[in-house]
Amino acid sequence: AKEEGDGCYRFFKPNLLPLIAEKMRLENGLYKALQENQFSLHYQPKISAASGELCGIEALIRWKHPELGLVPPDKFIPLAEESGFILEIDRWVFREACRQNKAWQDAGLKKISVSVNISARHFYQGNLKEMILSELKATGLEPHYVSLEITEGVFMRNIDQVIDTILYLRNLGIQISIDDFGTGYSSLNQLQRLPISDVKLDRSFIQGITSDDKKSSIVRAIIELVHSMNMKVVAEGVETEGESRFCKELKCDELQGYLFSRPLPAAELEALLVQPKNV
Ligand code: C2E
Ligand code: CA
Ligand code: CA
Ligand code: CA
Repeated sequence: AKEEGDGCYRFFKPNLLPLIAEKMRLENGLYKALQENQFSLHYQPKISAASGELCGIEALIRWKHPELGLVPPDKFIPLAEESGFILEIDRWVFREACRQNKAWQDAGLKKISVSVNISARHFYQGNLKEMILSELKATGLEPHYVSLEITEGVFMRNIDQVIDTILYLRNLGIQISIDDFGTGYSSLNQLQRLPISDVKLDRSFIQGITSDDKKSSIVRAIIELVHSMNMKVVAEGVETEGESRFCKELKCDELQGYLFSRPLPAAELEALLVQPKNV
């Protein structure tokens, strides 16, 4: 029934209610999820374009909700960013990724770098430096086995302060990547100012690159420019042999995507870190 008198109900169209209810349910569930260990990490390999070898992994969060089942990060990360709870989630992810990587190293497995996604919010609120330092200390992982993935949104405000923070982290030995590059607001011009280790080219640039001349020449130009600034290029979302071949021809440094591997649970990723025994 629609109440026209005071107009209140007009804003709450009946078909929106289930959406709002679901949003509240997820938002309220996040805190409990952290308390009750409902989060876990999957790890997606990054492949060296030159050697074809595994050269790093990206930690990606998974939420197993007791009633809703697996909730994809695209559904709850934006909610957590809105509410500020993302700061807690970032810390948990960072700690768990470092703990796991250190445990693999201690078990004699291949030493590789783990990348963790950090919300732009962490550069404005909370204390990113303190968080990183205390979790590195707690887990004992050396900083050069850690990489942080940040999006261009980080550079929307207080750019000088953000650059200071990044310089501090890089001096510790931590690598910094720009994630989803090309989808946000940062200009190529701005890139020059940023003390970044590598640029992750968004999947939208890779998709269909083999048959789209315009796209491939844009990507070629971006890669040349990034290289001229002494940064590496990682191609994201490589799904076909054709895309992989193209990315190699264009001199991408690292490749990531379903063609090589989906994100894997820790136990499956571990198998890829077993070193050949010296006989
Ligand atoms: P992202 O950081 O850009 O991560 C890449 C996403 O693309 C992942 O989705 C990954 O599973 C997917 N992907 C990888 N290769 C391919 C491919 O070849 N084809 C296609 N179609 N997709 C591919 P996922 O795990 O669902 O994560 C989605 C987004 O959620 C991430 O995008 C990131 O923005 C956010 N996210 C995930 N985990 C975390 C986290 O621990 N912390 C934060 N702050 N954000 C996270
Ligand atoms: Ca990422
Ligand atoms: Ca990305
Ligand atoms: Ca993304």
